[in-house]
Amino acid sequence: MMIRRNEGPRALIDSFGRAITYLRVSLTDKCNMKCGYCYASTARDTAITPELDNKGLLTPIRAFASLGVNKVRFTGGEPLLRRGIVELVAHTREIAGISIIGVTTNGLLAERNLARLIDAGLNRINISLDTLNRHRFKAITGVDGFDRVGAGIEAAVSSGAFSQVKVNTVVMRGINDDELRALAEWAIGRGIDIRFIEFMPTEKSGWSRERFVGEVEMRSKIGLELIPVSEEGNSRGPATTYKYKDLPGRVSFISAVSCSFCDNCNRLRLTSKGEVIGCLFQEDKMDLGQMIHKGASIGEISQRIVEAVARPGFRRQPDDVSITSYKPLMKAVGG
Ligand code: SAM
Repeated sequence: MMIRRNEGPRALIDSFGRAITYLRVSLTDKCNMKCGYCYASTARDTAITPELDNKGLLTPIRAFASLGVNKVRFTGGEPLLRRGIVELVAHTREIAGISIIGVTTNGLLAERNLARLIDAGLNRINISLDTLNRHRFKAITGVDGFDRVGAGIEAAVSSGAFSQVKVNTVVMRGINDDELRALAEWAIGRGIDIRFIEFMPTEKSGWSRERFVGEVEMRSKIGLELIPVSEEGNSRGPATTYKYKDLPGRVSFISAVSCSFCDNCNRLRLTSKGEVIGCLFQEDKMDLGQMIHKGASIGEISQRIVEAVARPGFRRQPDDVSITSYKPLMKAVGG
């Protein structure tokens, strides 16, 4: 690991030469949905670990910004359940170097919070939606919230605050794989970028090979002549993106199981407890919680981040396509 000093801000480069510019922050383990593929548990949903307050979370976010991170995404659990999220977005917006602030939400509370979040500086949004059928929606999520999520998506589109609203759809055989074409057409017609996500074998996800649908099969089920588009700069991520004719909507695939995109991975994760995670599928993590509670400075926190990124095994090798035995709990690490 090296810290590169150019004329610009410092850059955090891992031992495989990948620059880290993107931080995903899980704001809470709690969720107001019970999607079986994310957290198949009937246990009462209380936060699994004590969470840092906003001040505590802003310290590592500032440290990451000082190391060259320019994009922060708030996720969870359900990030909009977190009290003070609007203030957190506003404070993050004030941090020098951070220009992109996103949220990944299930959308239940989106319509109600959107205007204040946009005012605070939110400029990216991903809303999860796995079906266009309200009964199926309830069966998947455990919540009768199809209309509320739909209203959240419409509010995000009509706000004009986002260059493109993204919708995340986890595809599962026998659950929603018969809706791929309809979902793609729905998104394209609204100028939305729908991202079909391969079902990943995460902790408590009930994953099975039978349920899994790979990208190749998804594309054949969609059956539209999709044209690849290249995403540049900060939009570059794990998704491969397509357009249909010259319509503004996009169809993307996030193929975490059938394809490896580790070679251009630019992200780290921070949990609501203060743990830094180098890779979704590596167990190694670094806990900043104690340091933050003791009032460590941004410089001290930055130094610990630099040391963690240098650790062998903290970041996965770019060409490692093996399936690891370690499985993350999505509602804690935020997907
Ligand atoms: N509650 C928010 C939401 O629903 O978008 C944010 C947290 S959720 C863990 C983030 C993303 O992870 C969602 O788009 C969700 O669909 C996805 N996800 C959860 N479990 C998954 C799994 N086993 N495989 C693939 N994606 C998963």
